[in-house]
Amino acid sequence: MEKKEFQAESKQLLDLMINSIYTHKEIFLRELISNASDAIDKIYYKAITDKSISFNKDDYYIQISFDKENRTLSVKDTGIGMTKEELENNLGVIARSGSLQFKKENEIKDGYDIIGQFGVGFYSSFMVADKVTVITRPFGSDKAWEWESEGIEGYTIEETTKDEYGTEVILKIKENTEDENYDDYLDEYNLMNLVKKYSDFIRYPIKMEVSEYKKKEDSDEYETVKVEKTINSMVPIWRRNKNELTDEDYINFYQEKRFGFDKPLKWIHLSIDGAVRYNAILYIPSTVPYDYYSREYEKGLELYSSGVMIMEKCKELLPDYFSFVKGVVDSEDLSLNISREMLQHDRQLRLMAKKIEEKIREELLNMLKEDREKYEEFFKNFGKQLKYGIYQEFGMNKDKLEDLLLFYSSSEKKLVTLDEYTSRIKEGQEYIYYASGDNYDLIDKLPQTEIIKDNGYEILYLIDEVDEFALKVMRDYKGKEFKSVSSEDLGIEEEKVEEGKETESKEIFEKMKELLQGKVSKVRLSKRLKNHPVCLASEGEISIEMEKVLKQMPE
Ligand code: ADP
Ligand code: MG
Repeated sequence: MEKKEFQAESKQLLDLMINSIYTHKEIFLRELISNASDAIDKIYYKAITDKSISFNKDDYYIQISFDKENRTLSVKDTGIGMTKEELENNLGVIARSGSLQFKKENEIKDGYDIIGQFGVGFYSSFMVADKVTVITRPFGSDKAWEWESEGIEGYTIEETTKDEYGTEVILKIKENTEDENYDDYLDEYNLMNLVKKYSDFIRYPIKMEVSEYKKKEDSDEYETVKVEKTINSMVPIWRRNKNELTDEDYINFYQEKRFGFDKPLKWIHLSIDGAVRYNAILYIPSTVPYDYYSREYEKGLELYSSGVMIMEKCKELLPDYFSFVKGVVDSEDLSLNISREMLQHDRQLRLMAKKIEEKIREELLNMLKEDREKYEEFFKNFGKQLKYGIYQEFGMNKDKLEDLLLFYSSSEKKLVTLDEYTSRIKEGQEYIYYASGDNYDLIDKLPQTEIIKDNGYEILYLIDEVDEFALKVMRDYKGKEFKSVSSEDLGIEEEKVEEGKETESKEIFEKMKELLQGKVSKVRLSKRLKNHPVCLASEGEISIEMEKVLKQMPE
């Protein structure tokens, strides 16, 4: 048996690795499975380039097994295995990646999913294990090797026997501590969940013995039996051809992923072949998530790199105003950071985010055009968010969002777009008029609206708190300014109050003001009123409705 120390730099690095690179200990399983998948990929690649090697798909799989009593967890593959030299190079030197080298040597660029590149993933095992044993036999050799290490101090290598080529990694799982329940990694249900979470779309079957509650043969009794099962889905839905997929497939995936319990209102399946290549499936929910309009809600898309989950909620991929969108994005082109939990450059993310935003917008505009009813349902749920979007970023997103907005129209008695409003604009009408209030009925009765209606002009009724703020920030739509019905200058020829009339009634106005005990700052004559004796108005930029909202806001 040979005993070797890790190289000095490796020791420090290993310590760093084990203790600080990863946010979640559980990703060690993702790393081991990824390595196993890479090892099978390498045989697959050899078989493609070398006719004398046959690749029978059924012979290639990854197997997970565990032994609670002995606290061992094993990840076994039927992949290419390692020679003694490779063991020393790849597992004895941290940050050396045999997989990256393989990609380089074979000039593999596209189409192969080889995941490894940094040469550190393997060591994440030490986050959960006191001891790691690797038994491996390289493809094309009878010799097998056992590599063993308890962490920083070094490792041993000795010859052993193994029936088939491939590699088995056996972890001696740590005892529970106060902070960490290592037993989780010896638990069938939890292990299955981890595979589903991170490695569901590894291309080879991941097999595990799982308990099944079954009826005994020739008896009415039930028993729990162990059955070997493939626990990953292998082919991600987003890599399948759109034409082959049914509505049900999309809905099932949405629910499986727990994006929501509802049936999604709409989905978008993208295969982008640009500077960054990626596939994505995006969903617009049909109901509002219970925490959507609260601080707890976290936006983001699930991000995959070659089928391996990297981030659960990548928020950079969605603008706030489309934060209701759920979905997955998978790319082979991402440059990941060493922990494979983040990306190195945000340029790739920015490119993807831009396209994704465009596509969502396009799809919403389409829905608005093709299926108004559906769009109104969408708008009822998430329209508020679009309006916030305009307001929050001081109108920067006006161009992107203005055509997605709907407001209730006084003349049409239904929700209309700004484009529809302006298409009906009368000759001589200078403004897009709006009036705010608690509900449409109340607004309809507002005295201020009369003179505008009398002119045959349409008014938008605003009932969401954010509405007026959004319009204020937008200022205009296609050059037509928004105008509150309670503005002083309505752009309408109005009868002027004759000179002297105001002073005639001065006394009674003073009396009224006094009776209202400071609730109004001024009482004056108006010619705007038709059927109503009196109305409330405000001077300046802030309307009465806005004032109400502002007063509710925390200081
Ligand atoms: P990476 O996967 O980024 O290369 P790892 O630390 O996960 O880094 O693995 C280091 C290297 O060890 C791999 O590149 C590969 O050459 C080798 N290796 C690890 N696991 C296996 C395995 N199951 N079968 C064959 N080779 C493996
Ligand atoms: Mg790896």
